[in-house]
Amino acid sequence: FPDQPPALIQSIALVPLRLRGTVVGSLNQASRDPAHFNSEVATDLLEHLAAVGAICIDNAVNRARLERDVITDPLTGVSNRRFFARRLQEEVSQWQRQGGSLSCLFVDLDHFKQINDRYGHQVGDEALRRVAQLLGESLRTSDVLARYGGEEFALLLPGTDAAQARETAERLRARIAARSLVLAAGRSLTITASIGCATLDQASSADVAMLGAWLVRSADAALYTAKSEGRNRAVAVPVEVG
Ligand code: GH3
Ligand code: MG
Ligand code: MG
Repeated sequence: FPDQPPALIQSIALVPLRLRGTVVGSLNQASRDPAHFNSEVATDLLEHLAAVGAICIDNAVNRARLERDVITDPLTGVSNRRFFARRLQEEVSQWQRQGGSLSCLFVDLDHFKQINDRYGHQVGDEALRRVAQLLGESLRTSDVLARYGGEEFALLLPGTDAAQARETAERLRARIAARSLVLAAGRSLTITASIGCATLDQASSADVAMLGAWLVRSADAALYTAKSEGRNRAVAVPVEVG
């Protein structure tokens, strides 16, 4: 009873909250009356309350876990495409109200199929986890990072103009290329990524869903250009509206 002066507490009842044989908490009650809780008082009501409390806590924890799982990619631990889609709508709508710029980056690992073919899927998976971690390291809290598809990540950078987005993309590209993955038997593997950037910065009254789709499509087109220009590079394009 951390908030109560000890002198006020004259009698107490402590009931463990049990779930499937484990104590998950404690239901603590105190009274100013020394006779309120004593060893002669029947405890069935308290025990019933504790049983209900334990189930409520379990439900709340399970629900929170489920909500988190629905928006998380299990392999890398970053957000998934579902969460990205939701945030895209929110960020585009915020951008439309407040102005400024909203940038989107698409990051696709280069020749990733070859990495799987040569080193196996486990190494491929480890590479994906590593890249997700590198991408997440320098983000601001308002930024969104998601695994968009197999070996493709998407970032949303609110309040980031085209030049800043291009700089960020170049920094991320360099960081991925610089950190090699150490394999067994002293071998190491360098992974590179191509990045496409697009920015919304011209005020538009178009539909939020359309604007979001244009932003993503433009970043994807920029990524395609980065691939065709030789990979391991960042390319920015203006958002093509309509
Ligand atoms: P490019 O440089 O043009 O992007 O070539 P790429 O080989 O990376 O592209 P492609 O689309 O041909 O291959 C993507 C590969 O990513 C194929 C697939 O096996 C692999 N991949 C997708 N998801 C996973 C995953 O969860 N784990 C692993 N290990 N590999 C994955
Ligand atoms: Mg690829
Ligand atoms: Mg791909």
